[in-house]
Amino acid sequence: MTQTLRSHASTGVDQARRLSLDPIATPERLLLGPGPSNAHPDVLAAMARPPVGHLDHVFLHLMEEVQDLLRYAWQTENRLTIPVSATGSAAWETCIANTVERGDTFLVAVNGYFGHRMADMASRYGAMVITMEKPMGQAFTLAEIEANLAEHKPKVFGLIHAETSAGVLQPMDGVGEACRRHGTLLLLDTVTSLGGVPVFVDRWGVDMSYSCSQKCLSCPPGLGPVTIGPRAEERIASRSGKVPNWYLDVALLSKYWGSDRVYHHTAPVNMNYGLREALRLLAEEGLEAAWQRHRRNAELLWEGLQSLDLKLAVEEPLRLPTLTTVYIPEGVDGKAFARALLDEEGVEIGGGLGDFAGKVWRIGLMGQNSSVESVERLIGLLGKRLPAAA
Ligand SMILES: *Cc1c(COP(=O)(O)O)cnc(C)c1O
Repeated sequence: MTQTLRSHASTGVDQARRLSLDPIATPERLLLGPGPSNAHPDVLAAMARPPVGHLDHVFLHLMEEVQDLLRYAWQTENRLTIPVSATGSAAWETCIANTVERGDTFLVAVNGYFGHRMADMASRYGAMVITMEKPMGQAFTLAEIEANLAEHKPKVFGLIHAETSAGVLQPMDGVGEACRRHGTLLLLDTVTSLGGVPVFVDRWGVDMSYSCSQKCLSCPPGLGPVTIGPRAEERIASRSGKVPNWYLDVALLSKYWGSDRVYHHTAPVNMNYGLREALRLLAEEGLEAAWQRHRRNAELLWEGLQSLDLKLAVEEPLRLPTLTTVYIPEGVDGKAFARALLDEEGVEIGGGLGDFAGKVWRIGLMGQNSSVESVERLIGLLGKRLPAAA
């Protein structure tokens, strides 16, 4: 050992840091925050399989399965439905990079942290961003949306279906039709809704949507599914200039994911194993059954929290089943409480973002974590660890 050390040392390479590391040993957590959620054991087993080549016919077949399963999860026939090789934010940026051109009017509905991110992203691609805003905890009415579409005639309208910072579910009745009437593309964030609450991309007239692997699909973070419909494809085909982002250019990406199979980048093979398995499990359970399970367990959580005299931040029917915001009781240090819950009980919950920072905890019941056992464990721990209600 000393011999090896010395010979390495003679090359000038500092070995001290390398030699001090033990093999990886990460704790088991119950992840009840805003994401990631726990991955299903079958998904982890799939990911542990040895990779095949990314142009191997076995992998090409798996890519088709993933695309078909994503179409099922989103309830869409969109040809251009693929997982982007990066997290949900990259899938999001794919939609914007491809459809926005400098000077385009882009309307964003902002009722929380992710609405602000939408505005920021669109502005980076040169859009003229207009926001319509609501306080966190509220959603937009169809009349408000309709009025803004009529006034601004935007090229794209960006909307967050499930605002994870606030715990709000945006009603979708009539929104797609209104966008069509005004010649606007509808871009819908379904990151915290896909697989957890009803999403109907085609029936709702959604032109583009994106999600992630690590929330309601029970897969680790690493892939960002995206679906792009015919109206958005037409817009992309009629662009005056190149998409200003090589990696996310769907014309290039669809040659790789389409029948041409032209090398674009190396798909993360094992992540796709995982997503394929996660989506297979969703299909096996059935979308409607998965939605009902998320709702049932959310209601159980809400009852449990209220029975501890905790106050929920969002009223029904806008309350999001996959993520609940609950006010931190007075006199409790929310951050310290969550830290102790993590370190002493192995359970993660999230803190607030934006206007909710320091005021709420965010409790996610996503994917396989949406279970009676998770709810009972968390409510039991809160009952034990919170000071008795005054
Ligand atoms: C988590 C989240 C994202 C971002 O996804 P990443 O995978 O973290 O990049 C986008 N939108 C919403 C509503 C989210 O909750």
